Amino acid sequence: MAAKAGRSVPLGVLLMKEQTSEKIEDPDILYGQANQSKKGEDFTLLKAECQRVPGDGVTTFSVFALFDGHNGSAAAIYSKENLLNNILNAIPSNLNRDEWLAALPRALVAGFIKTDKDFQTKARSSGTTVTFVIIDGWVVTVASVGDSRCILESAEGSIYCLSADHRLDVNEEEVERITASGGEVGRLNVVGGAEIGPLRVWPGGLCLSRSIGDMDVGEFIVPVPYVKQIKVSSTGGRLIISSDGVWDALTFEMVCNGCRGLSADAAASQIVKDAVHGKGLRDDTTCIVVDMLPPEKLTPTVPPPKKQGMGVFKNMFRRKSSESSLHSDRDCLPESDLVEEIFEEGSASLAQRLEADYPIRNMFKLFVCAVCQVEMKPGEGISVHADDSSEPGKLRPWDGPFLCQSCQEKKEAMEGKKTSTDSISRKSSGSE
Ligand SMILES: [Zn+2]
Repeated sequence: MAAKAGRSVPLGVLLMKEQTSEKIEDPDILYGQANQSKKGEDFTLLKAECQRVPGDGVTTFSVFALFDGHNGSAAAIYSKENLLNNILNAIPSNLNRDEWLAALPRALVAGFIKTDKDFQTKARSSGTTVTFVIIDGWVVTVASVGDSRCILESAEGSIYCLSADHRLDVNEEEVERITASGGEVGRLNVVGGAEIGPLRVWPGGLCLSRSIGDMDVGEFIVPVPYVKQIKVSSTGGRLIISSDGVWDALTFEMVCNGCRGLSADAAASQIVKDAVHGKGLRDDTTCIVVDMLPPEKLTPTVPPPKKQGMGVFKNMFRRKSSESSLHSDRDCLPESDLVEEIFEEGSASLAQRLEADYPIRNMFKLFVCAVCQVEMKPGEGISVHADDSSEPGKLRPWDGPFLCQSCQEKKEAMEGKKTSTDSISRKSSGSE
C-alpha cells in the first residue's frame, strides 16, 4: 500500500527486507572515561559484556553508570556495588529479549529503591546521584536521579537528552512535591536576611530532589529514577555521561562539538579538559563516552558540521513509521537519523511507576514484593494502590503489584506520610 504508483515490489523482496531489518546486527561498543578529582566522590561502573541467559539464547548487554557522591562517598560506593544486581533481580527470568527490554523501566525503579532502602540500614549520611545506562542491541535505557546527565549525539549530529535534572533550581514540579511531603525548600539565609545560592532542601541544604542515600535530609529525597528508553538507528551514535562538573561549564552542544572525531577515550579526556579549562577544577569532574557503531565501522562517526537549527535539545522524537520498510532505499535515507522513543516516565509516585496495567504484568510473580523481591504469603502483600484515595473500596485482592510491609513503609515515608527521623528540626531562620 505504501509502494509508489507504477512500482510494485515483489513479495520476495519485501520478505527479504523484513528479514534483514529484523536481523540488524548489534552495534560495536567502544568506550572510554576520564576524571579529574577534587573530593574523590565520583565513581563509575563500566561493564561492556554482561551476559543474559533468557528464553531465547545467550545475549550480552552493556552497563555504564556514573555515581557522583556528596557528603562522603559511602552511598556512591554502595550503589556502584549493589545497584546492578538489585535491578537484574527485579526482572523475571525466562523473558525473551523484547520482554526483557520492556521489563527494564520497572526493574530500574525497583532496583533504585531497594538499593536506597538497603543503604539506609548501613549509614545515614552521604548520598549520590546515579546515571545508569543499559545498552542492549540498539536500545538504550537510561535511569537517573540527581544532576549528572546523559546525552546522545546521533551519527547525523542531533542531540538528545536522556536524563532528568533533579536540581531544585530548575525543577518546579519537584519543589512542589517536596514541599507537599513536608520538606522545606529555600535558599541559604545569611546575616541580615539576604538569601543566596541555589534552592536547597532544609535541613541539610541539599540542592537535589532525588538521590540514593541522603537519609539524614529526609525521605522525600526519593531514589525513584527518571527513565528513558530509546532505540538508536543503526547508523550509530555517541553517548556522553558526565557529572555536573562538566554540565556546569559546558553546554550539550559545546561538549559534542569539542570531541567530534576523537576516539571514545580521547573524547572523554577532551571533555573533562574543556570543562576544567575555564573555571579550574571546582568539583569532581567525570565523563564516560560510549560509541555505538555499526558493526563493520570501527572508527568513530564524524557527523557533518551541524546545520543551523538542527535538532539540538530535542525533546520531540520522530516516530519511525511502521511502513518504512516498504519504501525504496532512497525513500529510507531521511529515516536513518531516527531515534525512536520507546518509554519515558519521571513520576515519583510508586503507584504510577509500578502500575498494574504494566504491559507484561503477568510475568511478574504475584506473591513477590515488587520492590525488594522478597516472597510473601498470599494476602500478605499490600497493593501499591492501597492508599489511592481516588477509588476507595474498589480494590480487588489481585490488584497488584504488591509490596511487603517494609517496602510499604518506605513508600509512605517517600510520600511524606511518615517521618522516619523522629522530629526534624527546621531551619531556624525560615526560608521566606
Ligand atoms: Zn519489599
